[in-house]
Amino acid sequence: MKKKMFISMVGLLLSASLVGCGGGPEHNFATEWSYNATNHWHACLDEGCNERKDEAPHTFEVDETKAVAATCTAPGKKVEVCTVCAYEKETPLPMIDHQYVNYPAGTVAPTHEEDGVTAEKCTVCGNIKTTVVPALGHDFVKAGSAIKNVDDKDVHKYACSCGKLAYGIAVLDYSFLSEGSNSFKDDTISESDAPEAGEGVRVAGGGSIKWRMPIQVASRYRLSIGANPAPSAIGNPNIEAKNGIKINGEDVDLIPSGPYNDLGLEIGQFNELVLAEFDAIVTAVGEDLEIEITQVASQRLFFGGELKIVQIPSVAE
Ligand SMILES: [Zn+2]
Ligand SMILES: [Zn+2]
Ligand SMILES: [Zn+2]
Ligand SMILES: [Zn+2]
Repeated sequence: MKKKMFISMVGLLLSASLVGCGGGPEHNFATEWSYNATNHWHACLDEGCNERKDEAPHTFEVDETKAVAATCTAPGKKVEVCTVCAYEKETPLPMIDHQYVNYPAGTVAPTHEEDGVTAEKCTVCGNIKTTVVPALGHDFVKAGSAIKNVDDKDVHKYACSCGKLAYGIAVLDYSFLSEGSNSFKDDTISESDAPEAGEGVRVAGGGSIKWRMPIQVASRYRLSIGANPAPSAIGNPNIEAKNGIKINGEDVDLIPSGPYNDLGLEIGQFNELVLAEFDAIVTAVGEDLEIEITQVASQRLFFGGELKIVQIPSVAE
């Protein structure tokens, strides 16, 4: 016990002689508070002296007069002030959500072909939020009796309540099928898979198949057909390298691309496959629109069901 006290007294004397301020025993403490983020203290003003007096943690009180409320457009802050040294601590407050209510003036109803939006407006800042409402799609129903094409085949006309028209012809009612191509209808096809999907046709490499459509409205049209991939198509790349489309003898772009097994077609049924979009003029009586599918290499698709063309909006110039 005695030894301990002796050591601490020596320590005290030593430290006093080392940090002695201005050569004297007294520190020269500031009356102003010094502070950091957690504490405040009175610092000795003498050069080279780091002595602190009255060091203690801040004692914070919220100052509501300095607070900034968060809004939906800007963050806010909470301000606390030390009751001893007046140090201010700020804590950011995140922005708050917009206060949305329905905004009918900004709402656009979807049409059969174009998306609409529902709109909401923030009652605080006026921000408008829209949510897309998908286009409704057409609801085509058969309109009148079938029209005869130049081959005396039935072409069905469909109309939507919006006025858009569509035409369909049975795939088997083709006008021309090149030699080497086959119809399942007459059992000239040897593949065992195709009949599972129903009656249809295939066009062999280097050949083509044509249909004729007596359209009545000049428009842009989308062409689709029932298609069934041959099992041998699976893993085979590039439908665009194998197939082509001609309208009245003119090449149009084939829409599907890439491997046949990426087309989303299931084997064993004819699935609607959109092939092309094109502009068509109204043909003269007896000069039907001629739609041709060509094959430049070995067959990968069987066609069945109905070949359809549907009116679509014109492409903006
Ligand atoms: Zn000092
Ligand atoms: Zn303080
Ligand atoms: Zn707002
Ligand atoms: Zn419609």
